[in-house]
Amino acid sequence: MKKYFLLTPGPTPVPPEVSSAEAQPILHHRTSEFGKIFVEVIEGMKYVFQTKNDVLMVTGSGTAAMEAAVVNLLSAGDEVIVASCGNFGDRWENICNAYGVKVHKIAVEWGQAINPKDIENLLKQNKNIKAVFTTHTETSTGIVNDIEAIGKIVKNTDAVLVVDTVSGLVNQKFLTDEWNVDVAVTGSQKGLMCPPGLSFATVSSKAWQLVEKSTLPKFYLDFKKMRKSIDNKETPFTPAVSLVVAIHKAIEIIKEKTLQKIWEDTEKLAKATRAAIKAMGLKIFCDEKHISNVVTPISMPEGIDGQKVVKTLREEFGVSIAGGQGKLRGKIVRIAHMGYIDKTDLVVGISFLEVVLKRFGVNIEIGSGTKAFQQVLEE
Ligand code: PMP
Repeated sequence: MKKYFLLTPGPTPVPPEVSSAEAQPILHHRTSEFGKIFVEVIEGMKYVFQTKNDVLMVTGSGTAAMEAAVVNLLSAGDEVIVASCGNFGDRWENICNAYGVKVHKIAVEWGQAINPKDIENLLKQNKNIKAVFTTHTETSTGIVNDIEAIGKIVKNTDAVLVVDTVSGLVNQKFLTDEWNVDVAVTGSQKGLMCPPGLSFATVSSKAWQLVEKSTLPKFYLDFKKMRKSIDNKETPFTPAVSLVVAIHKAIEIIKEKTLQKIWEDTEKLAKATRAAIKAMGLKIFCDEKHISNVVTPISMPEGIDGQKVVKTLREEFGVSIAGGQGKLRGKIVRIAHMGYIDKTDLVVGISFLEVVLKRFGVNIEIGSGTKAFQQVLEE
C-alpha cells in the first residue's frame, strides 16, 4: 500500500478523528439528532468566520458558495467590480459573466496584490456598483490581499464586499465583521481539514437587503430557503450528512486550539518553508511583501517543467504538491501549509523536492532546504 503526503492547497489531509466522525452510521437529516449537530456547525462556523452575521451552508465545493453569492445578491444587468490577482479572482468574473452581470474588472499582474486604492477610485467613478468581489488568499499565486483596507473603503458606499476565503479561512487571519465583509465564502477541504463537498457563506444585513431585490435565477442555491430552514434546524434539501458530522468534529479541534494559535503556527510553517526554498537556491514566485501563509509558490528554474516535478514527486515518493494554474502551468509549483498539514509532512515534501530537482539537473545541495526549515522552526 502506498503512503501519501498531501501537501496541496486543497484538498488537504483529514485528521483521523475527523475521518472517523465521517465514518459514523448515517443519520437521517430530518431528526433532532442531526438538527443539533447542524446547528452547532452553523454556530461553530460563526467563530471560524469571526462573525455574528448569518452563516449558510451549501452542499457543493467552494465554487458553489461563490455562485450562490452571485445569484443571491444580484440581478441581470447589475454592475459589479471584480478585483482579481489570479485564477480564483478571475472565477468571480466568469460566474458574473455566466449570469449577465456587468463586470468592471481590476486585474493585477499575477504574483502581485490588489491595491485597495484602485477599488476606491473605481467606486468613486461609478455609483451604480452593487458589489465588489475579491479574494482573500489567491491560491494560484500565493498572494494575500488586504481585505481590511478594502472593507474600510467599501463600507462607506452602497456596494457590498464579497470575499472568497476558500483557502485562507482558519489558517490566515480573517475577521469577517471587524473587516466589514458582507459575504465571505469558504470550502470544507482546506483549513477546515475535511473532505471536499461542503461550502459556507456569511451574509450581513447589508447583503440581505440586496438578496431581497435580487432576481437572478436560483433554486438549489437560494439563500432565503437556507436561512428559513436553519430556524427549524434543517437544510432545504438532503445535505451531505457525513460531511456535516465530520466538520462538526473539525470545528471542535479548531476551537480547542484557537484561531489565534493556528494563525501563529501556520505563519511559522510558512516562514520555514520560504527559508527552505531560498536555501535551495530557488525563488519565491510572488511579491513577498504580500505573500500568504497558506501556500508557498516556487518559481521553477529555467528549463525545468513544474508539471514534471509534481508528477515525479507524486508517482515516486507519494508526495503531492500542486503545479501552476492557467498561465503559470509548468512555471511554478506550490506547497501548502494549511489545515492538518504539519512540519513533518513539510520536511518530507521539501526533502524529496530537493532530490527530484537535483535529478532534473538543478544545482541543489541535498539537505540545504530541510536544514533551513528546521533552523527556522527551532528559532
Ligand atoms: N477560491 C480559492 C481561493 C480556492 O483556492 C479554490 C479552490 N482551490 C476555490 C475558490 C474553488 O473552490 P472549489 O474547488 O472548492 O470549488
